[in-house]
Amino acid sequence: MALEQTSSLSMKAGAAPGPTDPYREVLMEAVTRAGHYLRGIRERHVGVTQEALDGLPLLGGPLPMTGEDPRSVLKLLDEIGSPATLASTGGRFFGGVVGGALPVTVAAHWLADAWDQNACLFDLSPVSAYLEDVVLGWLLNLFGLPSGCGGAFVTGTQMADVTALAAARHAVLRKAQWNVETEGLFGAPPVTVMVGEEVHATMLKALALLGLGRGRVLVVPADSQGRMKPAEIRQVTGPVIVCAQMGNVNTGACDPVGEICDVAHNMGAWVHVDGAFGLWAATAPARRHLVDGVARADSWATDAHKWLNVPQDSGIAIVREPEALRHAMSITAAYYPDPDNKREPMQWGPDSSRRARAVEIWAALRSLGADGVADLIERTCNHAARFATQLRAAGYEILNDVVLNQVLVSFGDEEKTKRIINAIQAEGTCWCGGTVWKGRKAMRISVSSWATTEADVARSLDAMLRIAATESRR
Ligand SMILES: *Cc1c(COP(=O)(O)O)cnc(C)c1O
Repeated sequence: MALEQTSSLSMKAGAAPGPTDPYREVLMEAVTRAGHYLRGIRERHVGVTQEALDGLPLLGGPLPMTGEDPRSVLKLLDEIGSPATLASTGGRFFGGVVGGALPVTVAAHWLADAWDQNACLFDLSPVSAYLEDVVLGWLLNLFGLPSGCGGAFVTGTQMADVTALAAARHAVLRKAQWNVETEGLFGAPPVTVMVGEEVHATMLKALALLGLGRGRVLVVPADSQGRMKPAEIRQVTGPVIVCAQMGNVNTGACDPVGEICDVAHNMGAWVHVDGAFGLWAATAPARRHLVDGVARADSWATDAHKWLNVPQDSGIAIVREPEALRHAMSITAAYYPDPDNKREPMQWGPDSSRRARAVEIWAALRSLGADGVADLIERTCNHAARFATQLRAAGYEILNDVVLNQVLVSFGDEEKTKRIINAIQAEGTCWCGGTVWKGRKAMRISVSSWATTEADVARSLDAMLRIAATESRR
């Protein structure tokens, strides 16, 4: 009954399709062009050609004095813009931990764009605020984290680190009788921050943004796979934050977070986990052991745009003690509603006005289910293992233990490995980036996309081995 009422209401209120509908033509144009782009993505060059780059100035020039028909604006954007994209949402992009976008998440994103909700307050977007609570609950369940945690939806893991570490900063200084939100860090008791030797660069930027300093961290040595050595954590007094990492961006290795929690909690420290992609190992039964003990940390940062395959940008901050996050993010003004009885997103995260980011996460989780998420993680890890096996069989050296979705391969000396990476990128069947691991140049293969099939792996291996053989003969 209620549903029927709503739909007849919206029928009456909605504009009839036709020439007076300002959306119809331009949206149909977008659907057609996006469909064409996505259908072609499996056959196109995975990288960007020089010709595509040379076309970009056609989008520039001085701002036109007179306007232009929306459809021709879209046409120009597609014809010039689409070729200048990396085919990272296809099945053979393995550069960086990027991830594609599940079809349902692209569609949900479009719908949410049509809603154009300002997600900062419940009253401005009840559906968005509600979905944030739903998604947070589902994620806590998937990751095996305590059900009472607070959370925020931000742009990426870096901002999730900033958000969660702001809660950490609040909590460790509150214990030292210091209110950092009111007083700032001027004259505050010093906070000791520890990171592993293989900390991600974005974590250091997060620390710098929070006034915790990227240069004054204590660096804890790591093992051959880049895992922090818990025995090397120094015992210090006063406010302490220890940052662990799930998923080293080169090797995929996860710090032994359970042991880190034991040592760190013993000195009253707050343990924060950068789990950009590695935290997702918790969702797959065969990989869960890699993050054993992760639920004992105090805060977590991760994102949905990498391994869950939702569109950019989508980060998630999670904090065990909701009050610490609330205090760090609180904002008051006469025109903001009382935040006590329902979720007011701006009271949990750093942003005010923002998009309804939980929508696509909800769509991904609802369409995959817990089993589908586990399968996505497991499948991509298995693809990575196959890359490693076949490259090793062909005589190339794999520099890491392939435990997750990351493979580091050396084709020989630095110069040769570089040359082969460049040739693979130029050939365009697949795309992999370069890195340096323990002083050695390597090609990094990250398998993070839902779209990668067995056939994509086979085709990419073919190209890699063929190019490597040719380049080796030169
Ligand atoms: C990707 C990544 C980040 C940064 O995430 P963004 O979403 O790009 O902000 C942080 N830490 C690790 C380990 C990562 O892999």
